[in-house]
Amino acid sequence: MNDAQSPQRPIPEPDADSAPYWQAASEGRLSLPQCAACGRIAFPPRQICPACNASRMEWITLSGRGTVYSHCVMHERFVRGVNPPLAIGQIELEEQAGLRLVTNLLGCAPEAVRIGMPVEAVFEEIAPGVRLPQFRPR
Ligand SMILES: [Zn+2]
Repeated sequence: MNDAQSPQRPIPEPDADSAPYWQAASEGRLSLPQCAACGRIAFPPRQICPACNASRMEWITLSGRGTVYSHCVMHERFVRGVNPPLAIGQIELEEQAGLRLVTNLLGCAPEAVRIGMPVEAVFEEIAPGVRLPQFRPR
């Protein structure tokens, strides 16, 4: 088990591109920018579409559902406040093929994670008002 509730964990430092992502997370929503011209959803968040270079990105709320595209187990203590072993997954979100983010996988033993496993976002409060999007089996 990890002690993901440790108060010594690093806290996100939002910038102009990622501030809406973290604001949505604090509200329990997974949100990313979508291109108004071609519909492409971008991760990591950015103000220019990575597919067509249009500059009109609109923030949308995603379902928070996806599947495990790839995974590994962290055995070393690389992040303060997070105790190994910890499952790390690359999650493909259901809204768009190839839209993937790297996340902690909670709620199951690290050795139980499988490629293709259905997962959903959870939002853990790691500091007052700061919630970290992570995923768990669904
Ligand atoms: Zn575009």
